[in-house]
Amino acid sequence: MDTIDPPVRVMALHALAYCERLFYLEEVEEIRVADAAVYAGRTLHAELERDLPEDGTAWVAVDLGSDALGLTGRVDCLKRRDGLLIPYEHKRGRHRQENKEPAAWDSDAVQIGAYAMLLEEHLGQPIDEGRIRYHATNTTVRLPIEAGLRERVRQAVRRTKELRRSTERPPITSEERRCIRCSLAPVCLPEETRQEHDPAWEPVRLFPQDREERTIHVVTQGAKVGRSGDTLSCSDEVELNTKIPIREISDVVLHGFTQITTQAIRLCADHNVGVHWVTTTGRYIAGLAVGPGRVQRRLRQYAALCDSAGCLGLARRLAHARAEGQLRYILRSTRGDDGARTAVAPAIQSIRHGLHGVGTADSIDSLRGYEGSAAAAYFEAVRHCFSSSVPESLRYTTRSRRPPKDRFNALLSFGYGLLYQKVLSAILTVGLEPALGFYHTPRSAAHPLVLDLMELFRVPLWDIPLIGSINRGQWNPEAHFSVASQAVWLSEAGRKQAINLFESRLQETWKHPITEYSLSYARQIELEVRLLEKEWTGEPGLFARMRLR
Ligand code: SF4
Repeated sequence: MDTIDPPVRVMALHALAYCERLFYLEEVEEIRVADAAVYAGRTLHAELERDLPEDGTAWVAVDLGSDALGLTGRVDCLKRRDGLLIPYEHKRGRHRQENKEPAAWDSDAVQIGAYAMLLEEHLGQPIDEGRIRYHATNTTVRLPIEAGLRERVRQAVRRTKELRRSTERPPITSEERRCIRCSLAPVCLPEETRQEHDPAWEPVRLFPQDREERTIHVVTQGAKVGRSGDTLSCSDEVELNTKIPIREISDVVLHGFTQITTQAIRLCADHNVGVHWVTTTGRYIAGLAVGPGRVQRRLRQYAALCDSAGCLGLARRLAHARAEGQLRYILRSTRGDDGARTAVAPAIQSIRHGLHGVGTADSIDSLRGYEGSAAAAYFEAVRHCFSSSVPESLRYTTRSRRPPKDRFNALLSFGYGLLYQKVLSAILTVGLEPALGFYHTPRSAAHPLVLDLMELFRVPLWDIPLIGSINRGQWNPEAHFSVASQAVWLSEAGRKQAINLFESRLQETWKHPITEYSLSYARQIELEVRLLEKEWTGEPGLFARMRLR
């Protein structure tokens, strides 16, 4: 078996010594996040190259590889001192303290030991010393390449081979301080796992609060997205004819008959930027799926979601979260209004009955029955959440989908279409298979897992801001809608207003009641997808616990 194992990168040994789970996420699942520390490291190495002496006694970025050792890597710097070659590793951070003396961190020692062994094999002469330069403390630690260190390197290579063959993620590290500096903390979510194991644990937020990138919606019919270098240019009024650097974009959504050039699609593909095509009514048509997800993640998802008891458990929690969110919203929006509270009383009772049934349902079919009756009661109650100033033309009598028969239903459907795209993007970012869900069945072109996860977000991300905007008189029944005899759609102005409302909502922050830290709603979607994945990666219990306050 050993002969067919590809060599492991020395940097991966460094990750392994830091945390086995970090190694697994980076090397096996191939998840890499270039955070500020990574960029700072690249700058440091560029400076090394610039400061290279020209007397032939030093070399930077030397590539080495050995089948016998099973290693490959790039030494930061090689220097000749008194006729001997010494490998140098440069670190931005501080050294460790041992007996009041500067010392190397274990992961750095393994790294420089591996470089020394590679160099020995390459040159056919012993390398007795490696040096690690810690720039934050301006210290150089000299490290003898002794037998114990060589054995640690060989052990580490053996361990990487075991982990590469495993489909199980190793557990989180017990040394929580390491997670604070780990670039993969937003993927790994170690603090949430610690809190699940110990309810008294006070988690530190290692998940970014806001999204750094934005979604570009191209709405004006005939508008075109093009490429100019590493920027996208857009002739849409929503984007004000600007050029936007690709690194500031998470997705491009093309509504109706808008255009994108092949060059722009290629730029998006190269930078993992999703491209989505939707109809003018907000129905999802197709997308450029980026980050196809690694096979281990899909295998784990398939295995987990083939277990019908496990699926029922997840579906129960999901349906409970949705119905409870609906109930809380109705109670909150009718508080202090005796007339409205009396009008929604039967619906509240039905939702409570549905909630009780959801908790005890013994099959997906009976769960659907309880959840469906709670949803019907909710839409009945929402009619009483409008303020008295809302015109009749913006009210509704019942939920109608394909096609929407009134303005409110047109708004509802369009917003759910936006939510669908956002949830799909989050699922693809995490690397899960959107076609494989645990509750919805594949009856339409919509991906079941997207429909599953949308249930958590319909009320907080669209129903609440939409009804609020209607009550504030922000919708013009004429200018924002296009009314036909059998259907109502949003006009172009209406679509732009709906997109702005939705995108603003995504930026709002909200405190997760379980993890107890604030996140934007955009991040909240991704967090829930990652918590769902934890259900089948040995850390269950956190998915679908978000609730409206
Ligand atoms: S966040 Fe912590 S547990 Fe997770 S990979 Fe990084 S160091 Fe390991």
